[in-house]
Amino acid sequence: MHGLWERLSGKLSTVGKYAILSAIPIVIFGMLLSYLLNDFVYRRTLATAEDQAELVAGLGPVQDVRARDITNGERSLRWHSLVADLEDTSLGAQGSTVKVWDSDLQIVFSSDSSIVGHTSFNPEHLHEGLRGETKAYTSEPAADGDEDILSVVTPVRPSASEDPIGVLEISVPYAPLARAVKRDFRIFYVVLVIGLNLLYVALFGVMMRASRRLRERAEEQEHLALHDVLTGLANRALFRDRVKQALRVAEREQQTVAVLLMDLDRFKEINDTLGHHHGDIVLQETARRLQATLRETDTIARLGGDEFAMVLPHVPDPAAVVLVADKIRAALRVPFIVQGLSLDVRASIGVAFFPGHGKDVDTLIQRADVAMYLAKTAQSGCEIYAVEKDQYSPSRLALVGELRNAIEHDEFVVHYQPKVDLKTGEVKGVEALLRWEHPLRKLIPPDEFIPLAEHTGLIEPLTSYVLNQSLRQVSEWREDGLDLKVAVNLSTRSLLNAQFPDEVSKALKKWRIPPSSLQLEITEHTILADPARAAGVLATLSNMGVELSIDDFGTGYSSFVQLRRLPLTELKIDKSFVMNMNVDENDAVIVRSLIELGRNLGLQVVAEGVESEQIRDDLTKLGCDFAQGFFTSRPMPADQLVRWLNVMSQPSVN
Ligand code: C2E
Ligand code: CA
Ligand code: CA
Repeated sequence: MHGLWERLSGKLSTVGKYAILSAIPIVIFGMLLSYLLNDFVYRRTLATAEDQAELVAGLGPVQDVRARDITNGERSLRWHSLVADLEDTSLGAQGSTVKVWDSDLQIVFSSDSSIVGHTSFNPEHLHEGLRGETKAYTSEPAADGDEDILSVVTPVRPSASEDPIGVLEISVPYAPLARAVKRDFRIFYVVLVIGLNLLYVALFGVMMRASRRLRERAEEQEHLALHDVLTGLANRALFRDRVKQALRVAEREQQTVAVLLMDLDRFKEINDTLGHHHGDIVLQETARRLQATLRETDTIARLGGDEFAMVLPHVPDPAAVVLVADKIRAALRVPFIVQGLSLDVRASIGVAFFPGHGKDVDTLIQRADVAMYLAKTAQSGCEIYAVEKDQYSPSRLALVGELRNAIEHDEFVVHYQPKVDLKTGEVKGVEALLRWEHPLRKLIPPDEFIPLAEHTGLIEPLTSYVLNQSLRQVSEWREDGLDLKVAVNLSTRSLLNAQFPDEVSKALKKWRIPPSSLQLEITEHTILADPARAAGVLATLSNMGVELSIDDFGTGYSSFVQLRRLPLTELKIDKSFVMNMNVDENDAVIVRSLIELGRNLGLQVVAEGVESEQIRDDLTKLGCDFAQGFFTSRPMPADQLVRWLNVMSQPSVN
């Protein structure tokens, strides 16, 4: 049965299936009703027969029966007139037999004269008649193929008050009588059939609706499993699937597929500063713009956070993808208006091609990720994966894992770069710069792992590490009679962490360093992430006596007003302006005005990236206070720095 249903349902449409399914209860219900109805008709027929029999009996001839009529039997006229009366009633149907029984249950008269004188083998009903009751009953036909017989017995008495002296029995075929009763109830049958049909239609409708809802629910579930709830874009699982499909087709048709990975630049700042709600709106709007820029056949996905991915299944040539990437970036350059605020959103995009850069989904995604990371660090907007570059920029994911262990494994070292006083030539302070001596990859520059650490929350333990190492070093130098200030670079997280000043204070106490021997370098970008909160932390640090320096100055957009509000002591001109100031007049102008700005604000001015004697001299003339750069010295390990300082302090020999 089950197998049959399986086979059937394989062939049937859903509608067909539900038509059959909803018919089953209707058929059962109909069968039950028709059984009840037949039973009703049966009872009704018997009752009618009883009424008729009593009527016949009450018409006169039966009630005034005398003992003589019984004994005379066939010779009594009474019975013959009774048979005639019967013909006017429904009992008088063709084939009806009338019998008159005496109290000994012997037939004294019958319309079938051949049975006169017979006695009964089954006298129960006749006894009831003798007791004064009218009773109808049916009996099986004598021979096969004959119809059921309905018999009704009714007492025969001399008067209404006297006991019966015999029994009148009228037997007729059952079916015609029942048919007559049924005819009376025809309307009832019609209503029943219509009712059942209506019920069927209703049930069918309910089932169809329920099934549709179930199907919709299933589709909804499937959509949820494969899509990002926030943006409605594909999720990672669906994206991988689509890339796989694209690769299959491309392999067959010898086409190129492009996988793009995109990450919003400084999205975290929006989230941290304005709250998740604004962040969510930016992500949704980004999704909309991507959809408007790409084709229907391309798949756009959100892989998580502010990371989006796209697959372009047919790519004529790499240049076409660069155009697409440019279009995406142009679409994002239009400012995002979020609750009245105009937000600037930029993105970095990495591209990897099938088959050139990889033949499977994972490789392609990973290589696009590497390219994206390159685009981010180089601030180039878009990069196509290149094997040569990848050797220097190892897989980001692997690096994150290694970064976690690197502190425990003591793979970090702090190097120090001197800041030289341009008036006296003295070194009064150094900047602590972190180095990762990776056991396999040798030295990894901070530009490669600091952004990673910031991205993954590992920056805080790193900052603590540098802070403690530097202060330990300063205390060691102090013991050797060397009084140097140390500058430590801060990331956004530390600056927004209300507990950070406390940590600094503890570290200073631990190494017994006066607060004024510690400088903290903050970039403009760091402060802009959340100016109000940053200002609070900076005020606490400044009140403790720690010096604050604004780093990479000139690369951000902070205004003079903002700068004046912060408790700064030092301004560091970004090396990008300093390095070329002797060849690029624009840079020279910027350096000059930044020195002026610093002086006006009462800050000491440091120029970074001083690579030549000429630049050092120019800066001295411009009134810059300190120089830091390769011309004086590269950043170096602590012991090397001490040797270097010793050499420097020797009187020159010419
Ligand atoms: P930064 O704070 O601007 O550091 C100065 C960078 O300029 C250093 O690069 C230094 O080696 C380099 N530099 C110094 N003089 C010259 C020069 O004459 N020419 C050129 N071309 N470069 C010069 P480094 O050590 O590679 O550090 C890069 C960046 O990484 C730093 O930029 C800083 O933002 C970050 N960083 C380094 N250590 C830490 C740290 O402990 N914590 C945090 N949060 N960031 C750090
Ligand atoms: Ca710095
Ligand atoms: Ca700097």
